[in-house]
Amino acid sequence: MTSKATPAATALHDGHGRRIDYVRLSLTDRCDMRCRYCMAEEMVFLPRAEVLSLEEVAELARRFVARGVTRIRLTGGEPLARRGAVDVAHEIGGLIGHGLDELTLTTNATRLAEHADGLWDAGIRRINVSLDSLDPARFRYVTRQGDLARVLAGIEAARARGFAIKINMVALKGLNDDEIVPMLRWCGERRFDLSLIETMPLGQIDDDRQDRFYPLTEAKTRIEAEHALVPSAQRTGGPARYWQVPDLSVTLGLISPLTRNFCDSCNRIRVSASGQLFMCLGHEDNVDLRAALRSGDDTALDIAIDRALRLKPARHDFDLATPATARHMSVTGG
Ligand code: SAM
Ligand code: SF4
Repeated sequence: MTSKATPAATALHDGHGRRIDYVRLSLTDRCDMRCRYCMAEEMVFLPRAEVLSLEEVAELARRFVARGVTRIRLTGGEPLARRGAVDVAHEIGGLIGHGLDELTLTTNATRLAEHADGLWDAGIRRINVSLDSLDPARFRYVTRQGDLARVLAGIEAARARGFAIKINMVALKGLNDDEIVPMLRWCGERRFDLSLIETMPLGQIDDDRQDRFYPLTEAKTRIEAEHALVPSAQRTGGPARYWQVPDLSVTLGLISPLTRNFCDSCNRIRVSASGQLFMCLGHEDNVDLRAALRSGDDTALDIAIDRALRLKPARHDFDLATPATARHMSVTGG
């Protein structure tokens, strides 16, 4: 007997022929920090009634994996600020080896020390941590309320548990650009990788993003004055390009959506905490998956996902002077 998948159950492709096999799921748009490039000091968050239950998030993950998604990242807002985050990680982690290759997490690490064991048991092995400064006062300034000691304790707990750690550092002119080389060395000493990120114009914030924009072309020149960089063939389907830093044993990622645009190989989509499927960080187009999800009908969900994929734009075009979208990265799920 031959079995044939219905069209709606086939792997995900967008209207530009790109295969989509990577989904970022936001567990919440809320956060215990207010990083200046990400959020305004006063934020309006989603009413709790609009947020998907954790069972719904897990159900969505199952459906995406049935549609050929092999990598899922839990993010937010701050994913570990959502009660039950580790439980849903366990649920989704149960799909590893059953279609899912990898479950990962992006976090600000404030709650990482208490959750490191649970996340490991859930099957997560790689964690990205945001860390924009190693100076306590600067760190507090950038995050408005972050406690560097607590974050470093979270990172250390994860390192001790055995996670592979990548530090995400948003490069900010006049704020932390002088810390880029020290951060690279700090990562090398701990066997962490480092990705530098250009600020993206997503949502209104209180600061002027143009004042703080630091092009990564400058960061690269600055690093190369002290450490050799060897281009790496590594690709993740995102906007990052990678270099090896042989004398520090660090893989350096440069995420430069403003100075370079690599949308041609984009393989990812993002689901907000309220179940909106966004095809691009830099576009407003989205499809609400919540109603289809709540209908309990897989076909309705597949149809909604396929409709969304046809909306995936070929590329984004960021202009620092005007936010590309009203929503912040913390809403889409960074
Ligand atoms: N709260 C977690 C964290 O900070 O790692 C996860 C969510 S956060 C939105 C994900 C990543 O997006 C972080 O590395 C953060 O630095 C980055 N980010 C947030 N807003 C950004 C912006 N406007 N431009 C560039 N990166 C941004
Ligand atoms: Fe929170 Fe992450 Fe945004 Fe900072 S970057 S405010 S930690 S969501």
